[in-house]
Amino acid sequence: MTTAARAVVDTAALRHNLAVVRRSAPASRVMAVVKANAYGHGLADVARALADADAFAVARVEEAVTIRDAGLENRIVLLEGVLRPDQLPLAASLGLEPVVHSPEQLEMVETAELPSRLFAWMKVDTGMHRLGFPPAEAVAVARRLDACGRLQGPPACMTHLACADEPDPGFTRDQLTVFAEAVAGLNGELSVANSAAVLAFPETHQDWVRPGIMLYGASPFPERSGESLGLRPAMTLTCPLIAVKDVAPGGRVGYGGTWQASRPARIGIAAIGYGDGYPRRLESGTPVRVAGQMARTAGRVSMDMIAIDLAGVRDPRPGDEVMLWGPGLPVEDLAARAGTIGYELLCGVTQRVDVSYV
Ligand SMILES: *Cc1c(COP(=O)(O)O)cnc(C)c1O
Repeated sequence: MTTAARAVVDTAALRHNLAVVRRSAPASRVMAVVKANAYGHGLADVARALADADAFAVARVEEAVTIRDAGLENRIVLLEGVLRPDQLPLAASLGLEPVVHSPEQLEMVETAELPSRLFAWMKVDTGMHRLGFPPAEAVAVARRLDACGRLQGPPACMTHLACADEPDPGFTRDQLTVFAEAVAGLNGELSVANSAAVLAFPETHQDWVRPGIMLYGASPFPERSGESLGLRPAMTLTCPLIAVKDVAPGGRVGYGGTWQASRPARIGIAAIGYGDGYPRRLESGTPVRVAGQMARTAGRVSMDMIAIDLAGVRDPRPGDEVMLWGPGLPVEDLAARAGTIGYELLCGVTQRVDVSYV
């Protein structure tokens, strides 16, 4: 028996979720977003499982290299482009497709010495004010990219939505209108939709959709679960119970003694904590499963351990499996309890967690 926390990634769930994307956006090609170590699920293995995707999207050149090293030849988009000129020849030789979002990157492309021509994406800022050219400059930027002789074809055009997960469609519609006007007359492919827009705004689908979180089975919407959207959680996070003890009425549990037994209590100690990415800000009373049975945490999360109130768990023993999130225990529900989103919990699973694939 190991005391390590384990994340088991269900590759069939990943493929199922990709199929949900395809059903939701049947006329679009799919760029599977696998940045941040595939949202914590393990980049190389996830990319292999999703090899049917038409392209991958990553945030860093190093992530793209990992995908090539895994033997995959899919198109790969660098969502933030490159930061240094010397990354462009590497991008060209690996067939990576940088986003060009700033005047500095535009100049780098125009002056690059490349082993072969690049495919590039131009990013337009339609109101999020993170990356991208002002809409009024889009046509001029595309012309310069066309004219510089470094590209394989016209740049594809993309923008990113700030509010597609919100019930009010107003801001998303405004962004779409701005984008349509900015790229009118250009003939590159278009891409707008993240997961929320794949599911909620068919008019954003266009040539390429860019789903991330929904591939991993978590909902992009604060109000809805992944399961209610037909998604299957890809990651199940578990750890073993390592001790079971009785605490008399009045006894306190954990740092600060914040949980106090109001009855003779049976407490289980499980081998996971914030050192594994189980957030300390999850309050006492957070649901977990012990050997398949519902239970709740008792007191504060420690670095390597949590305590669980085993009331209602039949015959608990050290070695029993504790599930922290997974099917039936959505990571996005826990995230809401911790004041964050499922994305952050999934990305926050730390190095010492043993990840395996089924
Ligand atoms: C991360 C990211 C996505 C994917 O977003 P999800 O909400 O995870 O679907 C799409 N496009 C860009 C530019 C991104 O940075």
